[in-house]
Amino acid sequence: MESQIPSRRPRLVIVPFPLQGHISPMLELGTVLLSKGFSITIAHTVLNAPNPSNHPDFFFLPISGYLSGHDTTAANLKALGKAINTNCEAPFFKSLARMMEENKSLDQVVCIIYDVLMYFAEAVAKSMKLPSIIFRNVSALAVLALDTIPWLRAEGYLPCQVSMLQDPVPSLHPVRFKDLPIYNMGSLDDLVKLAIDSRPIRSSSAIIWNTIDHLGHSSLEQLHQLYNVPFFSIGPLHKMAQATSTSLLIEDTDCIEWLDKQAPLSVLYISLGSLATVDKKGLAEMAWGLASSGQPFLWVVRSGSVRDSESPELLPEDFKEKIGERGQIVKWAPQKEVLAHGAVGGFWSHCGWNSILESICEGVPLICMPYFGDQNVNARYLCHVWKIGLELEHELERVQIEKVVKRLMTEKEGAEMRRRTDDLFDPDTSSENLSAPVHDINRTSKEPFRECLT
Ligand code: UDP
Repeated sequence: MESQIPSRRPRLVIVPFPLQGHISPMLELGTVLLSKGFSITIAHTVLNAPNPSNHPDFFFLPISGYLSGHDTTAANLKALGKAINTNCEAPFFKSLARMMEENKSLDQVVCIIYDVLMYFAEAVAKSMKLPSIIFRNVSALAVLALDTIPWLRAEGYLPCQVSMLQDPVPSLHPVRFKDLPIYNMGSLDDLVKLAIDSRPIRSSSAIIWNTIDHLGHSSLEQLHQLYNVPFFSIGPLHKMAQATSTSLLIEDTDCIEWLDKQAPLSVLYISLGSLATVDKKGLAEMAWGLASSGQPFLWVVRSGSVRDSESPELLPEDFKEKIGERGQIVKWAPQKEVLAHGAVGGFWSHCGWNSILESICEGVPLICMPYFGDQNVNARYLCHVWKIGLELEHELERVQIEKVVKRLMTEKEGAEMRRRTDDLFDPDTSSENLSAPVHDINRTSKEPFRECLT
């Protein structure tokens, strides 16, 4: 329930996609906008609903669309997105209309801000004659890569021969054909359609991007020219709304006590985010590679993250004995706190956008093992442009793992990457940059988002 918020503040309705990596930044956006004088409603699916008790100042509006039989595994994402956008429009319209009717004398809804994947919210905004704004929590580099796919197809580059997979994509250096989302996300036709559908920004008034200002700036500029709507480049939101608890899973905070006992910059943190999975063989290679690296590590082995395994004991026999106190394994970590801890000196990551922003903000260089979607493009930039990551191919072998861990954690190369990571994010300049766009939104609050409206 909502606490005592002064009435007559413009109300924003925020509509996140029900995945951890999408919910967190939108809750953080809500926290930032609340502090700028808006009232916040979070309209969410019943599936993966955020915990209202972590956000007593928000009003939570469940959307009761039928999603039975759907889960939030990576394999089901396309079907889930389709089901949400088909089944949630009418229930959202109804519950929003009821909320507005019941609160008639209080805060007036002035705008709907929705995750780009929740495009049914735009249709509702349109029919209620409300302005809407898209929120994107993805690197502009990856969106530009997706946007290039129809052109690559028209020019005959796609579909491409296997022999071309390592070749650079024209105009997207250092991205290779194998890094395009096409090779791990559905058919070429689907991708071309997705790229074209997400290009004209329908009737929404603006796009908010969660990013670090100078990361992928030129891609953002190019997209801005293509889309021709105002862009608000803000973020990193997790730094602007630091006290916000956004986790859907219970965080194992005991690992912080263990980190307290480790030497500065000695620990490798390993997490593949909320969706990526490994097979049992890959997991065993990871385990033995970590064991032979000799490096302390904190490893998130999420429940459900190991394919083809029914057994509750996922890790190889003898592994825990072998590593003793040198390694900690948890089901879910307080990741931002972990990355900010002085003992953590490296992050083995799947290169999800949140994980990248969180790592860069704490000056932690990465081992990059991307899986799908935007992650391959992100990894290319981390390793070949910003030079703060080491690439790890998927055919995991313990010897390579041991080598890459040592390169990052103990060798000069790793120390240099750590220095470069530190230089990438300057909290002082960033907070100056951050205040501008949010201020713009706030400034127009008497006639909300007037400048964005067409
Ligand atoms: N995360 C966490 N604890 C974990 C693993 C991940 O809190 O043990 C959080 C992490 O901080 C990040 C999000 O889950 O904010 C993962 O988002 P990301 O974009 O990196 O990857 P995705 O899960 O969307 O693939």
